[in-house]
Amino acid sequence: MKSRAFTVEEVTYLRFKCAGCDLPHDIPVKRLEGARGVRWDWNNNEEAPTLTPSCKTVWNYGSPPRGSICHFTLTDGVQQFHADDTSKPNQLLPLPELVE
Ligand SMILES: [Zn+2]
Repeated sequence: MKSRAFTVEEVTYLRFKCAGCDLPHDIPVKRLEGARGVRWDWNNNEEAPTLTPSCKTVWNYGSPPRGSICHFTLTDGVQQFHADDTSKPNQLLPLPELVE
């Protein structure tokens, strides 16, 4: 399986392992009606997920902290990394299998 949906309290997330930064990403795809907060549109397909709009995560890691950006569009289970992504810029990569 490429991704898995799970629900914590009122929010459903889609989890997948990123082909770029090699970390799991949990993206909110559904919230209880009326609940506030961002969410992405998802095609309800765990094997070939599509999310809209793009996903972008920015974090600092290491000592001294080094800025990292993970930025991609996920379409039918394939990640298109954007030019500002710091691990796989401009690359097109299929999601790896999700092993938990
Ligand atoms: Zn990533």
